Amino acid sequence: MLFKDMGIIAPLLKAIHKKGYEECTDIQMRSIPIILKGNDLIGCAQTGTGKTAAFGIPLLQLLGLEGVRQIEPRALILVPTRELAIQIGEALKDFSDVLSIRQLVIYGGVSQQKQVEVLRKGVDVIIATPGRLLDLYRQGHVNLKKINKLVLDEADNMLDMGFVHDIRKLLKAIPSGRQSLMFSATMPTQIRKLANEIMKSPVEINVSPVSSTVDKISQTVYFVEKKEKVALLTKFLNLEKDLQTLIFMRTKHGADKLAKDLSKKGLQVLCIHGNKSQNARQRALNSFKNREVDVLLATDIAARGIDISELPRVINFDLPEDSETYVHRIGRTGRAGKVGKALSFCSTEEKPLLLKIQKLIGFQLKVG
Ligand code: AMP
Repeated sequence: MLFKDMGIIAPLLKAIHKKGYEECTDIQMRSIPIILKGNDLIGCAQTGTGKTAAFGIPLLQLLGLEGVRQIEPRALILVPTRELAIQIGEALKDFSDVLSIRQLVIYGGVSQQKQVEVLRKGVDVIIATPGRLLDLYRQGHVNLKKINKLVLDEADNMLDMGFVHDIRKLLKAIPSGRQSLMFSATMPTQIRKLANEIMKSPVEINVSPVSSTVDKISQTVYFVEKKEKVALLTKFLNLEKDLQTLIFMRTKHGADKLAKDLSKKGLQVLCIHGNKSQNARQRALNSFKNREVDVLLATDIAARGIDISELPRVINFDLPEDSETYVHRIGRTGRAGKVGKALSFCSTEEKPLLLKIQKLIGFQLKVG
């Protein structure tokens, strides 16, 4: 289905075209008409499916058609991480601009001053992490009474990260007559429960089976003992030097140590994790996106919002404790129809984790 057949208004269509999108992705084709009709929606979709545009385009169209300009925001997009907030802000900016819709990205870890100044002048759309938004709300810097569209993105991650209380508090401040949209890569019972509580007869769409991994990703496991992992990683990185690679680590400490080990071996790598400042994380991400450096090390939380189109390779230096994290990790490659490789290193102690992952995805990884 082409965007031009989706009932999208001319200025938005022009901006979509300028971005180089012609055909809708599956989730866009299915969710845009539902959202334009004003219905609530639950989308079970992984990152890389085009879900940002799937909710962003119709949401902005509806706001654009409302045409009112006021101080108070009318739409709120809640996300689990700062990086995802920034990424959604960037992805939607071109669409907002053509409709003169003012958007603001709000997250913690930086001074609130600038965010407060923009709020004072008036914004239409807020893209925020729950903690900082709640902070600003409690200080009286933001009025949520005019919100008529709410999006919860990566709802499963928000739950994992313990944001559910903050979300519930924010929901109390938002009118109940709003349109609500929820997106999640996985649909654990708790998410369903939350959806039932906060949505009105939502339409549910499922663009890939729950917890399935993307077909376009070749997934291989390498059985390697802990102390041999650095050598194996170095071999892969040297073998395909120009292949952009995102390496996942469970812990901040492990990521720092691995970054040091790789640097000693003459490899140029950058590292992002929760102990680094927001600015340092953003700088590292930009250098990786601009291909100044081809290897980025990240912990799971720091990596959640990363969207680098055509990222060809993800390496799991260690296996995640939580199998669903595996699905999120490898979803960073094979995005928007591109082919990707996911390599996982598994030591003897990690074998039970591998079994859990294979149970979740429903097949055995190829052994490399
Ligand atoms: P998302 O799942 O929203 O993170 O999107 C994944 C990637 O797909 C992003 O790099 C988008 O720019 C890209 N994308 C989204 N929709 C389309 C489309 N219809 N055609 C081509 N690329 C798209």
